[in-house]
Amino acid sequence: MGASLAGAKAAQALRLDHGYDRPITLIGDEPHLPYQRPALSKGYLLGTTEAGELDVLEPRFYSDQDVTLALGAPATGLDLDARRVRIADGTELPFSQVLIATGSRARRLDLPGADLDGVHYLRDRADSDRLGTALRDAAHVVVIGAGWLGSELAAASRTLGNRTTVIDPLPTPLYTVLGDRIGGLLARRHRDQGVNVLTGDGVDAILGTHAVEAVRTITGRELPADLVIIGVGAVPNTELAQAAGLRVDGGVLTDEHLRTSHPAAVAAGDVARHQHPHYLNPVRIEHWDNAVVHGTAAAATLLGKPATIDHIPYFFSTQYGSTLEYVGHPTAWDRIVTRGEPGIPGFTAFWLDRDTPVAAMTIDNWGAADHLRTLIAAARPIESPLLTDPETPIQTLLPTSNAVTVERVQR
Ligand SMILES: Cc1cc2nc3c(=O)[nH]c(=O)nc-3n(C[C@H](O)[C@H](O)[C@H](O)COP(=O)(O)OP(=O)(O)OC[C@H]3O[C@@H](n4cnc5c(N)ncnc54)[C@H](O)[C@@H]3O)c2cc1C
Repeated sequence: MGASLAGAKAAQALRLDHGYDRPITLIGDEPHLPYQRPALSKGYLLGTTEAGELDVLEPRFYSDQDVTLALGAPATGLDLDARRVRIADGTELPFSQVLIATGSRARRLDLPGADLDGVHYLRDRADSDRLGTALRDAAHVVVIGAGWLGSELAAASRTLGNRTTVIDPLPTPLYTVLGDRIGGLLARRHRDQGVNVLTGDGVDAILGTHAVEAVRTITGRELPADLVIIGVGAVPNTELAQAAGLRVDGGVLTDEHLRTSHPAAVAAGDVARHQHPHYLNPVRIEHWDNAVVHGTAAAATLLGKPATIDHIPYFFSTQYGSTLEYVGHPTAWDRIVTRGEPGIPGFTAFWLDRDTPVAAMTIDNWGAADHLRTLIAAARPIESPLLTDPETPIQTLLPTSNAVTVERVQR
């Protein structure tokens, strides 16, 4: 259920890795072959990435591998004991195992004026097509929310030459993920590009008669706007799972193998909140990489050969031609240390909890993320001069090398 990134990766692994030769159907409410979303706020929106480049798998995969595509109508009912899915077109499909990969949707803001013409959300290809056209006709753009998506959209709007404001009630962009110092650095990057970054202020109302004319903030500022983009997070599409009686709490709850509370159902990708061996609580991760890892692992679990999923979450973002890669999913840290200079490729920040790196972000540093991931998975304290010294390759800090991991805790 969900002709999604996770769903397509599961189908691929079932056929190619496990040799599964019984019927597979991908049910998708969108009319498209399973596609990847990251470019919807980047290259595809800006016109530098073609639609075909979004495909998760070669279009011929589905016919070559005899995977049935039931596209353009949502699944509307799931009966786990009878093992049947109902589709909106009236079809009922029997199954032995179902993968719930329904992803997430844009969180809506209940604001006066949120239904005016010129107010956009971004989740799917149709949204990106509409937004791309609107951004080219706009002059004054206000982006509500300075998370990853809002930050990318502010960058895209500015790249297209619009006067752009990004507004967020927190002190910096991505404040809850990155904290004050690194969030502040991202705010400076936006400002250097001419974006008006308004933090510590929220939106009170979107103003206009039929179409957007302005945005009024809680502190009473009025920002002219002919296009408003709301990017305030996503909510998992759990309704069918919940109605089917599965345990749902901020996502479909799964064990470390993606098994849900019913033996006939597995969940993967954005919709799954999975018991992650590295973290104490179940986690729900809205990252491209997570959907790939989950989808592939789900195939094994569907076949009763459950793999444990303990990968450290990884997210990438492109803004103003630079790529930011963030690794980890910490709930707490007490210190941030950095190596290199902001603005110079290779700059890296480490979030430390009692000297143990729990997250890292690196900018324009291809290839480093895998090492950072290993570093964080090791969950061992490291002397911060080693982390901050650009001359000390990250590889030498990894547990498998001879290097210096620290025995401070033991001392
Ligand atoms: C604009 C945008 C930019 C992003 N950029 C990045 C990035 O730069 N880096 C990164 O790491 N991640 C990024 N992400 C996140 C990443 O794309 C998601 O984590 C990933 O797509 C999740 O994949 P999924 O397979 O779980 O679900 P989805 O990709 O959400 O797919 C789920 C599919 O299931 C369908 N569906 C839902 N309910 C039903 C139903 N009842 N019946 C049938 N079909 C149904 C949905 O319509 C959708 O087509 C971005 C996301 C968006 C929206």
